[in-house]
Amino acid sequence: MAVTDETLADLALSRSSLDRVALERRRPEVLTELLDDPQTRVAEVRGDRMQVSAPDGAQVAGDDGLALVLRAPEPEDHARLGLHLGRDGDGTAYVGVVSTDDGSAADEDRPPEGWLTLRQAGEALAPRDAGVFTTALALAHWHATHRFCPRCGAPTHPRQGGWVRRCEREGSEHYPRTDPAVIMSVVDPDDRLLLGRGAHWPEGRFSVLAGFVEPGESFESAVAREVAEEVGISVEAAHYLGNQPWPFPSSVMIGFQATTRETELRIDPVEMAEARWVSREEYRDLLRDGSIRTPSGISIAKRIIEHWLGQTVESVVEPGTGTSF
Ligand SMILES: [Zn+2]
Repeated sequence: MAVTDETLADLALSRSSLDRVALERRRPEVLTELLDDPQTRVAEVRGDRMQVSAPDGAQVAGDDGLALVLRAPEPEDHARLGLHLGRDGDGTAYVGVVSTDDGSAADEDRPPEGWLTLRQAGEALAPRDAGVFTTALALAHWHATHRFCPRCGAPTHPRQGGWVRRCEREGSEHYPRTDPAVIMSVVDPDDRLLLGRGAHWPEGRFSVLAGFVEPGESFESAVAREVAEEVGISVEAAHYLGNQPWPFPSSVMIGFQATTRETELRIDPVEMAEARWVSREEYRDLLRDGSIRTPSGISIAKRIIEHWLGQTVESVVEPGTGTSF
């Protein structure tokens, strides 16, 4: 995949600035040492939320306003699931701790003050904190869903700073999973963009097409297959645009732009409620009159659409009109 000046820069969740210091994970005592060091910065994960503070809080905020609440280690942290996330340029270590108070369903209607999801906070965090949140969330979910060995069914336990789980019966080691998914603009000979609405999406919510890469498949083949399956057209060349981790719960999204000479859509009703071609002028009109909604601000989907549009959605719509969700 050639990186050209056509690629998308500064994707919201691809901005991590931490050095992952992977070699440090090999020392069995590394988390104990880090949690005994008052200089270590600890970020707590509760369910899918982390605590953030506004610019006038005690923390130094990023350019866009929010900062993660980072604290010194507490004795209780030794008993929690710990994640050695990396070090910054000054050598300060960052450890995620996963709270057993996971913000269970009963709390979802009234989450504790200042605890936000990554979808809510991701864009407004500076690069270091966006990386801490993205990595900690992905790892925490992997641990929660991989408590038993896929080979023999025995319990597994965290090792290597939270980057491995080891089977207690036979010692097999298991590593965090990331599932690749392709996401692509498809443009016709008139430079119109293909937009689709998923089978279970609300009215007016449209995005570019996407789908998981299957075993044994290249990214480019996955682009062609997904477009053919969902709307029944074949694409020509697919060009790489950019990628970002997408820990909802465990993906990385790989963005492409594809072209086609076919314009007659035959949608798969199982996957798609509707699909349509839009010109740039039509898309601007649909945004302005509120009859179409864009993907969320941290998504690569929004950036892919804006790449085709040649301007940001915000520059089309007056700020504050609620077209983003
Ligand atoms: Zn096992």
